[in-house]
Amino acid sequence: MTKLLTSRDMAKISCPTCRGCGACCRDMGDSIRLDPYDVYLLTRNLGLAFSDLLDRSIALHAEGGLVLPHLLMKEEEKGEPCCSFLNREGRCSVHAFRPGLCRLFPLGRDYDGTGFSYFVVENACPVPGKSKVRISSWLGYGDLASYEVFTARWHYFVKEMQEMLGAFQGSEEARRLALYILQKFYAQPWDPDRGFFDEFEERLSLIRRAFS
Ligand code: SF4
Ligand code: SF4
Repeated sequence: MTKLLTSRDMAKISCPTCRGCGACCRDMGDSIRLDPYDVYLLTRNLGLAFSDLLDRSIALHAEGGLVLPHLLMKEEEKGEPCCSFLNREGRCSVHAFRPGLCRLFPLGRDYDGTGFSYFVVENACPVPGKSKVRISSWLGYGDLASYEVFTARWHYFVKEMQEMLGAFQGSEEARRLALYILQKFYAQPWDPDRGFFDEFEERLSLIRRAFS
């Protein structure tokens, strides 16, 4: 049975021998999904707009009626698709503000209906000899408590919207709602003078009021 963990727990996931083989940054298809905080950090730290990221580093996919972004795997010289943020030395060029799923690797999240727990994805990283590290240190977020609240709220909001959109599948209303959510949580810039998590809650409340 999979052991469920909190961010206070230790897990054998640290990779002392990791020399940036980059295996977790290559050939990942559209699986590295981006939440609004990921895009907020990328746009703010790179000085780019969401549309600039779409031009070069990310792409959109349909997911249960929503339109959501993921990291783009581009062809590299050897012909193997890799993340556009992987540099020539095989290192992440956005390491300090890399997306949440990249920070999480090789952990996964188990959602229980209200919150979530962490678990170790066995054999996700091919390099042996892992050592123990506290999950909070591994994730490396300054305000992990707020980040975890945001992560759960975003997850359950997406599920709720997907269920709602299922009832209007293929309609013009469903398409408009999907684009509205993309605009509200990804394309619309965040106020640099406010904290992301406060503004996220405000946008969430606005959308909930609009659809209640
Ligand atoms: S697959 Fe493992 S060893 Fe390779 S870069 Fe990722 S974490 Fe490091
Ligand atoms: S953002 Fe960085 S860590 Fe994540 S897949 Fe791209 S290169 Fe790898």
